[in-house]
Amino acid sequence: MVRFIDVYKEYDNGTKAINGVTFTINDGEMVFLVGPSGSGKSTIIRLINAEEKPTSGKLMVNGYNFSMMRPSDIPFMRRTLGVIFQDFRLIEKKTVLENVAFAMRVIGASKREIEKRVPYVLDLVGLSNQADRYPDKLSGGEQQRVAIARALVNNPEMIIADEPTGNLDPARSLEIMLLLERINELGTTVLIVTHEKTLVDKLTKRVIAIDNGKIVNDETGGYFGYEEGQYE
Ligand code: ADP
Repeated sequence: MVRFIDVYKEYDNGTKAINGVTFTINDGEMVFLVGPSGSGKSTIIRLINAEEKPTSGKLMVNGYNFSMMRPSDIPFMRRTLGVIFQDFRLIEKKTVLENVAFAMRVIGASKREIEKRVPYVLDLVGLSNQADRYPDKLSGGEQQRVAIARALVNNPEMIIADEPTGNLDPARSLEIMLLLERINELGTTVLIVTHEKTLVDKLTKRVIAIDNGKIVNDETGGYFGYEEGQYE
């Protein structure tokens, strides 16, 4: 669960990126966050991930109240989140399997747990047959599936995807969105920052639209609040 209550974020240089934002994303929801470039979407993600601190307002993420959180709590809070980026961010020298297993190893999972969990998530994202390949031998869509498997492997409560289809063609983009929808149906909360109007309309989920650091629309069912073409 993510809750923002009247959150403001002003960067050190005086830029007011978030100007009084209040919303709740409940467990099990799938939500799209949309808005023009510079509207504050990445700032919202960095606030959720505790990479930035709010200037004022209250923030709660998966049971962590940020005003009470100690710096030593941050790694544990982050383990409740699986983050996916536009540029995949895979380790090129590791195979698909090693990329995913590594995410478990760094949090101290046992060999037995890793051997049980990694094949399950690779199957879930449809990559069981590619486990021994290196990222540079995979298509963009496959690389993003590896990143999704890696984000899921530690069983986070929520997946956050920052423009996950930004580097993919329309057919691959649809596949990735449908995979994220399936993951949501299996119980993980999903938040996706995207510019993909057609896909957002097709999936008919909740859409939070922001502009100038404020929420300008929050409805379920499609891409509201802007004219087509405004996101280029
Ligand atoms: P979006 O993700 O919607 O493109 P951002 O959250 O990246 O928007 O940016 C919101 C505003 O904050 C923009 O005006 C941007 O220039 C500014 N901004 C983003 N990051 C920083 C930063 N680290 N320091 C100063 N200003 C920033």
